[in-house]
Parts: sequence; structure tokens; C-alpha cells
Amino acid sequence: PVRVRFAPSPTGPLHAGGVRTALYNYLFARQQGGQMLLRIEDTDQNRFVPGAEAYILEALSWLGIEIDEGPQQGGPHAPYKQSERKDIYREYAERLVLEGKAYYAFDTPEQLDEMRKRLEAAKVAAAQYNAITRMEMTNSLTLPLGETKTRIESGDPYVIRMKISPKEEIRFNDMIRGWVVVHSSQIDDKVLLKSDGMPTYHLANIVDDHLMGITHVIRGEEWLPSAPLHVLLYRYLGWESTMPQFAHLPLLLKPDGNGKLSKRDADLGGFPIFPLEWTDPNTGDKAKGFREEGYLPEATANFLALLGWNAGTEQEMFSMEELIRLFSLERVHKAGARFDIQKANWFNQQYLKLLSEESIISELRALYLAKGLAVSDSQLTQIVHLLKDRVHFVREIVSESLFLFIAPETYDQEVALKKWNEEAVQAISGLSDALADYPGEFTAHEIKELIAATLETMGVKMGKVMQALRLAITGAGAGPDLMIIMEILGKNEVVKRLDDALN
Ligand code: GLU
Repeated sequence: PVRVRFAPSPTGPLHAGGVRTALYNYLFARQQGGQMLLRIEDTDQNRFVPGAEAYILEALSWLGIEIDEGPQQGGPHAPYKQSERKDIYREYAERLVLEGKAYYAFDTPEQLDEMRKRLEAAKVAAAQYNAITRMEMTNSLTLPLGETKTRIESGDPYVIRMKISPKEEIRFNDMIRGWVVVHSSQIDDKVLLKSDGMPTYHLANIVDDHLMGITHVIRGEEWLPSAPLHVLLYRYLGWESTMPQFAHLPLLLKPDGNGKLSKRDADLGGFPIFPLEWTDPNTGDKAKGFREEGYLPEATANFLALLGWNAGTEQEMFSMEELIRLFSLERVHKAGARFDIQKANWFNQQYLKLLSEESIISELRALYLAKGLAVSDSQLTQIVHLLKDRVHFVREIVSESLFLFIAPETYDQEVALKKWNEEAVQAISGLSDALADYPGEFTAHEIKELIAATLETMGVKMGKVMQALRLAITGAGAGPDLMIIMEILGKNEVVKRLDDALN
């Protein structure tokens, strides 16, 4: 059966790229009737960020990505957190030493630095710890017999390095990128076990993928340069015949295609799914996140799914079920995917239209309350009708409707200059009287008829004064249906605003 994994390092919040990796793994697993694992790769203690693990779980569940085995779910290969599997990795590193495929190295940081400087001075292309240089360094291959053991027993710090043989060809067929061929002379004697006893990413990743029965490694393109080393590790460990298949996903690019989308491109959408830290302690600004910005999880998942994949049709809107049915690694592109936040906004708008009125209303009510505005249920319904199709986010309904609660203090000067003339002033004063005296129900329909009739008696064309009327009521020259706006405001407020504008 297909078994895939999402293997994040808990070093901070997840960004679009990481979540897309998780999503593709999930889609592939579900489609193939396989399993999706979550493995926390937390062996680099310097980069560990508290709270990041809980964050990862929350972000995945927010997006609707279900995990079959993982730190929370448990499973036959528990623990799923690498820091709790330390002993397992050491065992394999030591086995490689016994088999002559790895060795102990005692070089101090100064010695390593010296080697690098020496090689650079000699203009050796890549300063590497490899088949040639290792013979000048302090390790179990160069030390007199027995000294390695003595040093280890006396507590000398050491690492275990892989003994890369210089004459091997490494090839594998990436499901997205095709054949990759690398010569082992390009690879240095990578550290497998660090001096703190922790494995490096490479060792832990390969040992776990093997032990956990992973069949497909689907991950970002930034890991492609590590893949040849991984193939070699499978070979040295004797696991090459059951090695997983690789699929390296295309990079996410800035919207203009110029370079990688990075965390620093916050205004372009380089912000995380949601921020690890809610507020910036220095500025008090809330950190941006897809959730905080008001993106719906369904819209976010749909948008992310199309960053590097398409169904080969014109269809753009996909539910998770459809994605699971249609996704294929064969249709993932090699070329980088441009990340266009406008497109994300468009998706959000489409999904917003599909939301039930009740769910929008309940979210809206909370947002208004946070602003100190108590809005009645019937007003909420009217506001949703008025603005739903004009916005990309629910929160935008709030900002776009503030004029309903706060009478205009200023008026758009450009529109005023063009439309606020003698004729308009007279018409509006006539309308104000007519509206004030109107005994009937104050609904959009009635208001419209009343205005039409009043203007007709005055001999004024509707088109000539409507913008001035809107200006008087809202302060702006354009906006949603003015009749509905008046209905929501109610008679007294409308008349008051007209009179304020006239005086
Ligand atoms: N821990 C690595 C990361 O943070 C995993 C890479 C892989 O999938 O092999 O992305």
C-alpha cells in the first residue's frame, strides 16, 4: 500500500510551500487508498521553536488534511517524533561504522576551518571532507589502532561521518523531474551522527522512511540536492531495493516569476497559514496569516492545490473530494509555480458566495461586536444581501459597511464638485421632506417609488441627482444599492443625513 509522510521540522509556522507539500501527500495517499503519516523532524535543537508542533497539527486540521499516523494519532511505528527515536539512529550509524561505510571523526571546529581555508587557498573547487581530505584529518581511518576507542571512552567529542566511496554512480528516477544522475565524487563525507548524539537530518530521515515503510517521498524541490546522498544511504544500509520513489515539487515563485517566494514577501502572500505569534510585541501589530486575513480553509486548499498542478481542464474550483479523485503526480509541473495572492483572493470570493447566510451572519456578528457595534439580526441579514457579492472576505463586509453606523463626516470632494449643484440641492431638500412625511413602510421598493414620484413632480431627472443623493447619505460617490442602504438606515437616519448634508 502507498504510505507517504509529511515531515516538517518544528522551526516556525508553516508557509504556503510547506502546506502544499502536506496537501499533495494527503491527496496522493487518499487517492491510492494509502496512509498519510506526520513525522516531526526535531533533531536540530538549535532551530527548535516551542509551540511549532502544536501549530503544525492545527494548521493541517484547519485545511482538512487528515493524518493517519503521527504524534497525536499514534500508530505501529511510534514514536513519530525524531527526538524520541535517538537510540534507533545511533544503532544504524554504528552499524555502518562496523561495516566500513562510516567512521568516527574527532576534528575540532578549528581543524575543519583550517582545512577549508587551506583548500580554498589552493583553489580546490569545493572544499570537502572526502576520500582525499579525510586522510589528513583526525578520524578512525587515520588514527593508530585502538586510539579511537580510547578517545571515545575518555569522552572526546566525535561525529560519525559517512565514508563516501569516490567512484559510484548514483541514479534515480524522480516522478516529476525524470532521471537524476550524480557521481559520488560530488558528495562529501556527510555527518550522520552529531557530537550531541543526535542524528543529522539525512540519517534520521532515511532510517525513518525505511522503518515506517514509506513508499513515496513527496517534498519540495529544495531537497533535490540531498536526494543523491539519500540514495547512497539506502544503498549503504542495504535498503536500496525497497527505496521509496521520489517526487520533488516545484518551487513557489514570486508573482512576477522573479525568484522564490519568501517569508519576507508578506504583502505578496509570503505569510504563514496562521502566525505562531499573534501579535508583534514591539508594534502590537497582529501578524498576518491566511486564517487571520480571512481566507476560508476550502479556498486556501483549492488555491494551494493549483500551485504546480492542474487537472488538464478549465475547471478551477475543486472540493477536497474532487482533488483526491483527480490529483496525479504525473500532472505536477517541473517549472516553478507563480504565487499570485490576487488569485487566492478570487478563490476566497468564490467560496464566500457558497457559504450559507447563517454562517456569514454569525461570523459577522462577532466581528461587529469586536468593534463595539451591536447589530440586529434583521440588519445583519440586510447587510449580507447588500455586500456579500462585492467582497472577497467576510471582514471586508464590516469595513465596507461602517458608513451604515457612522454618518459621513466628510464627503468625496471630486464627486461633490461635479454633482452637488443648485438643482441637486433643491431636489434633495424636496426628497428629504417627502421621505420625512412618508407614512408607509420604509422598504427599498417603497422608497424607490416615492423618490421617482417626488422627482417627477419636481420635473427633475433621476439620473441627475442620484449620485448627489448617495453622497449626502454615504459620503461616497459609489457603492452598493442605495435603496437598500436607505432601508437599512431607516427613515429618521436618512432624513437626518440629508438635512446634515444640506446645512
Ligand atoms: N524535515 C524536512 C523539512 O523540514 C523534511 C524534508 C523531507 O521531506 O525529506 O522539510
